[in-house]
Amino acid sequence: MCGILGIFGHKDISQDLIYGLVSLQHRGQDAAGAVVFKDNFRIKKGLGLVNEVFKEKHVSRLQGQVGIGHVRYATQGDLETQDSQPFAVNYPYGLAMAHNGNVTNFREIRKYLHDEKHRILTTSNDLELLLYTFAAEMENKNLKQLSVDDIFTVVKATQNRIIGAYSTITIIANKGFLAFKDPYGIRPLALGKKETAQGPVYAFASESTCFDYLGFKTIRELEPGEAVFIDMERNVYSKICVQKQRSFCVFEYIYFAREDSIIHDRLVASERVRMGKALAKKIREKGLKPDIIIDVPSSAYFFASGLAEALDVPYRRGLAKNNHVGRSFIKPLQKEREELVSQKLNPIREVIEGKKVAVVDDSIVRGTTSRHMVKLLRRSGAKKVYFISAAPPIQHPCVYGIDMSIKTELIAGRRDINEIENKIGADALVYQSLEDLKKLYKDMPSCYACFSGQYPTKISEELLNQMEKDRICSKLKKN
Ligand code: AMP
Repeated sequence: MCGILGIFGHKDISQDLIYGLVSLQHRGQDAAGAVVFKDNFRIKKGLGLVNEVFKEKHVSRLQGQVGIGHVRYATQGDLETQDSQPFAVNYPYGLAMAHNGNVTNFREIRKYLHDEKHRILTTSNDLELLLYTFAAEMENKNLKQLSVDDIFTVVKATQNRIIGAYSTITIIANKGFLAFKDPYGIRPLALGKKETAQGPVYAFASESTCFDYLGFKTIRELEPGEAVFIDMERNVYSKICVQKQRSFCVFEYIYFAREDSIIHDRLVASERVRMGKALAKKIREKGLKPDIIIDVPSSAYFFASGLAEALDVPYRRGLAKNNHVGRSFIKPLQKEREELVSQKLNPIREVIEGKKVAVVDDSIVRGTTSRHMVKLLRRSGAKKVYFISAAPPIQHPCVYGIDMSIKTELIAGRRDINEIENKIGADALVYQSLEDLKKLYKDMPSCYACFSGQYPTKISEELLNQMEKDRICSKLKKN
């Protein structure tokens, strides 16, 4: 998963670009990069957090009125600086691009680019596939007189070729600034605007929280298949180039997006409260009567407080979190993941002791956190431990960019709920049901593929196996 931000201003935007990226840091911590255009493309990228990659000197070197930034959580490709985004090309035209998502027909596109367009790929990042396909479509246009219609035709041809999830931002040198989504609209991307004395400044960002931070007004989320083009005079054009059934990733609301972001007019925090409240029915059906509700900090707070409100049971902070410990999720070995979870989360004994505790997390992926939480809470004197997942069982890999692409790693991949309950050692395990989750989004068709196995784009069993193998290989290299 990744975060992207692009700004098209009148004065130098590099400072805003780098600061803005910090507010998207939760979407990717493996690498960061930025490209700015002023006569030529200036690029800086590296491995690590935004504040580690960009120093004061880079901000002053990256001067320009238009730029794109990227934070990367590598779910595909290698973890090398050269694989970090954005990328730029000069043939047939000056183009720079960044994207968030995952191309699923990568083999077919690689072959097309190699055999028909004679392009030699230099990285393992699927952005290259998108950028070269886009560039190849540009070759068919009269570049001296490139019209807005031409640009939308290029987007349409690219969308017709590239399958998968992709929200992209592109600089077309001296012509303008472009953003487009895949036809299903799987990943978020919003348009923002700020009025200045020199005229309007426009931005595209993965999440609206970035606009709050930079003082932009959120205009709106882009529609599935939509392209928005802003020319040099700051005229804004938009067109839905190719549209399929809207399939916004519901896991963005569950886990990925920040709670203060508004996506498709819905505040993420409120969505989590609604999901938490929806869990109350399942707790009652199971006859569970917890004394307190606690959360696994920090992503589960809104689910837990929503559930506590619906059940009229006190919410307490039962686990203290050390924010200075790295991410357990990406560690290669189970033992290392468990050690990190214990260093990261410490139960507050006085809150837990002698209580029937319902502990809420946003999701259970491999079961590392849940199993460990149950153990820690028992050790702290909990009378009973009920584990509650705000997400339904994750039974299928995500092929659209969330780091859950290895089916054999998923605890619910081949187990039923009783087996998982035993495996994590809880007195009871409650999952959100997929039906209840879907009811919350009945007016907004969404992607539930990781729960249902129904992928909005066509995915064959062979492709799933291939993607799983690639992911295992790149994880081994990464570690
Ligand atoms: P696990 O411990 O493997 O069951 O993973 C579940 C925990 O990891 C939960 O506490 C989530 O907040 C977190 N989580 C869920 N999905 C992801 C993801 N794709 N990347 C990183 N962390 C995640």
